[in-house]
Amino acid sequence: MSVADVERSREKKIFPTLIGNDPLRSRLGEDILSSSLSHAYIIDGKKGSGKHTAAMLIAASLSCENKDSPHHALPCGECPSCKKILSGKSPDVILVKRDDKKSSITVDTVRELKNSVIITPNDTEYKVYIIEDADTMNVQAQNAFLLTLEEPPKYVLFLLLCENSGLLLETVRSRAATLRTEPTDREKISEYLLNRCDNSEVRERANELKRTSPEEFSKLLLLSDSSIGQAVDLLDEKTRNPILKNREFASELILAMSDRRGAEKLLALIATASGKREETVEQLTLTQKALRDMTLIKRSDTAPMIFFTSREEAASFASSFTLPDLMFAYDAIAETKSSLSGNANVRLTLINFAVKIKTRNNKGN
Ligand SMILES: [Zn+2]
Repeated sequence: MSVADVERSREKKIFPTLIGNDPLRSRLGEDILSSSLSHAYIIDGKKGSGKHTAAMLIAASLSCENKDSPHHALPCGECPSCKKILSGKSPDVILVKRDDKKSSITVDTVRELKNSVIITPNDTEYKVYIIEDADTMNVQAQNAFLLTLEEPPKYVLFLLLCENSGLLLETVRSRAATLRTEPTDREKISEYLLNRCDNSEVRERANELKRTSPEEFSKLLLLSDSSIGQAVDLLDEKTRNPILKNREFASELILAMSDRRGAEKLLALIATASGKREETVEQLTLTQKALRDMTLIKRSDTAPMIFFTSREEAASFASSFTLPDLMFAYDAIAETKSSLSGNANVRLTLINFAVKIKTRNNKGN
């Protein structure tokens, strides 16, 4: 591609269905249009921030039949190749997932991947491997993956999706460019739900909610936690309830921690927990967000809230904690989460957490 072509290509609309994320869009768009794509990218960002959407758009762009046409977006979304890839039907775009029952991607999954990589693509020039939760690959799996990652066949592109790429071995990170997806602001989420989302059911639900209850709609944007994925989930009753349940658990956990009389409340609450690892980690992450709001409210009158829907609510929760209490709780939760990211037993880990909080509360009395 000549310089003039690259200049012209800048005017091409890149990844039209990805919301926000302009740095990632321009970097990848240029790499694809100038055929200078690396053989592997780490896409790092929180849940619902567009990692999966970006990965599918990259895969479609590579084989889009209108790639070089200035009149089409990249990918065009209309050609047979785009349609096949974006509907998840292409055998050349392979999703690698962690076994549902396991907390990590194991060496068995990597072995399967290595066997598949050597088979040439079916329909297109490329084979794209989208590795979900790549940061849960255990050390053995990462080491097994290294050689393939270093010298894959020419037609292979690896996209490693991570919530925390820092968990990957340095040797893996050094072999792939890291791109980050960014949290989306509420206005963009609102615009997406109401007007831009491809799914007409989502658009209808959003417009209906905004019309019948603008307050509920604003609350939904707040609860979406800057994530389009979560906002869409909140519009649907089936997926909304688990999110609300997790938030409720986080609030109850904080109330139980503030009880100075003993650990009974905390232990009783833990007894009601599901014992599911991912759900527990999500609940603890929400609790940390609440603790962060409570810490900020003690220090500033204007800091934006990320968990509580009002400053009054945050202040009321914060009133039974001192600043050092809040920091202690935050760190204790961080430690608990880190144990859970290994294979520690969920319930025992939570009980240890309760004991830590109780010991601290006793010292304070
Ligand atoms: Zn196309």
